[in-house]
Amino acid sequence: MSRTILPHLTALGLICVGTTLATAGVPAVVKPAKNIIVMIPDGMSIGGTTLARWLNGGDKPLAMDDLACGLVRTYPSDAIINDSAPAGTAFACGITAQTGNIGVYPDALNMPGLTQPKPNGVNNLSPAANIMEAARLQGRSTGLVVTCELPHATPADFAAHDPSRKNYDNIGEQEVYAGFDVMLGAGQKFFRADVRKDKEDLVAVIKANYELVQDTASMKASTAKKLWGFFEKPGETDLGYDLDRDPAKTPSISEMTEKAISTLSQNKKGFVLMVEGSLIDWAAHANDPVGITSDINAFDKAVAVAMNFAKKNNDTVVVVMTDHGNSGITIGNASTTSGYDTTPLKAVVEPLRSATRTAQGVTDLINADRSNIAEVAQQYYGVALTGEEIAKIKAAKDLPELRSRCQSVLGSRMATAAKLGFTTGGHTGEDVVFHAYDPHGTRPTGVIMNTDVARYLEKVLRTDLDAVTRRQFQLAVRAFTQKFASVRTDASQPGNPMLVVKKGSDEIRFAQNKNIALVNGKPVTLSGLVLFTGLAGGENWYVPADAVALVK
Ligand SMILES: [Zn+2]
Repeated sequence: MSRTILPHLTALGLICVGTTLATAGVPAVVKPAKNIIVMIPDGMSIGGTTLARWLNGGDKPLAMDDLACGLVRTYPSDAIINDSAPAGTAFACGITAQTGNIGVYPDALNMPGLTQPKPNGVNNLSPAANIMEAARLQGRSTGLVVTCELPHATPADFAAHDPSRKNYDNIGEQEVYAGFDVMLGAGQKFFRADVRKDKEDLVAVIKANYELVQDTASMKASTAKKLWGFFEKPGETDLGYDLDRDPAKTPSISEMTEKAISTLSQNKKGFVLMVEGSLIDWAAHANDPVGITSDINAFDKAVAVAMNFAKKNNDTVVVVMTDHGNSGITIGNASTTSGYDTTPLKAVVEPLRSATRTAQGVTDLINADRSNIAEVAQQYYGVALTGEEIAKIKAAKDLPELRSRCQSVLGSRMATAAKLGFTTGGHTGEDVVFHAYDPHGTRPTGVIMNTDVARYLEKVLRTDLDAVTRRQFQLAVRAFTQKFASVRTDASQPGNPMLVVKKGSDEIRFAQNKNIALVNGKPVTLSGLVLFTGLAGGENWYVPADAVALVK
């Protein structure tokens, strides 16, 4: 009842959705907007958010605070705690996905309250369209901004389709050919011919289609409409933590967000941008409260940039929500069981403020013979290590182990000093805060499912994700044989199978993970990706409708 009167009241400007008129969830009527900015602080538990606010002084809100309007249930199709791959798939595609999967329908669907018909019918692990694919069909521009490697789970969810988040070869290739306008992040290595199984030089493909920038100044100076950034330090595959960043070489997440918005907003039809504060999650896995809070604050500055644009532009929806909790970080721990109500603010914030680098950032200052561990821990993290702790860190067999031992020792000392608790080094399954800005007031409220986020954004875009799935991921073998063409898979090129379609004297070849058809050897650009995925034999190829139309 209340939902039916929403459009009328909204038109009169009388409504504040989420108070008394609307029931919880996605409003039945959502007003369209031109642009969407999706912001994901990966693995951000609310304890970390509260702590980040206190570290700013506690007297002013975070940029995201103003937008808080509900809670998100985060579980995947087959477990109580989510991983980033299905968690981001829910936000991007509006489906409940399975542990490890990127943008595909689950094989197992055994959590309560889940039913989801597959628009394509027959095949588990078949692709589900994401909001980026829907937006591009409408002529909107699309972009990704992340602080990890671009083929990592969350960006992959908004760009690719694969049963395994670990399959960087497929994911990276799909990202290159998906049709994005702006891609800012890290992980050039995974696009290199010498690293990829198929030996394709995707860096060359990127350079042919985008301006490739690799430091802050070149990013800011670029006037390219198609912009790609790899900002990792040599030997790394991610941007590193904001606190440890060299601002000349590595742009901040807010600088990347600003650049992405200014580039994408040149399209009069609008844009969809996804921004991920990727390393909040990694610091949480490491139980490093300094990394968690400093990267939350860096992410929040990017929210401020997005909100600044959204408020000026008045036609942009911004949603901010993490994909799952991580680490169980709490203000208060076993030491405050007695005395929690007399713990002063400074007991918590002062130890944290004495750190000027994250625990990983401290590790990176350890010299080759590891003789300065005590000095750098004291100087940059404010912690006086014991002899035993120094010996433990020193005995690490390689750099990854040095980092993990240093993070573990320093993080644990900081947690004790600042009276913080951690319950796990993994993700957690509680609900998370949903934040949204909708200039037209029709934002979701109450306790929603993670899939509801995409279903709301689909309404904002005036699209239909299931219809886009049916259009973009047609069962190729079936579609082509119905047109009396012969179909076979050419697996002669390792890592790059091709679908070969023949009718009469015409031959069309489709390479997996690309948006290209070779019609009698001549390239034709398709509206979306050609995919090879799924469980059912013979039904594994998916092509967009315009690929099917190439066979007369
Ligand atoms: Zn995550």
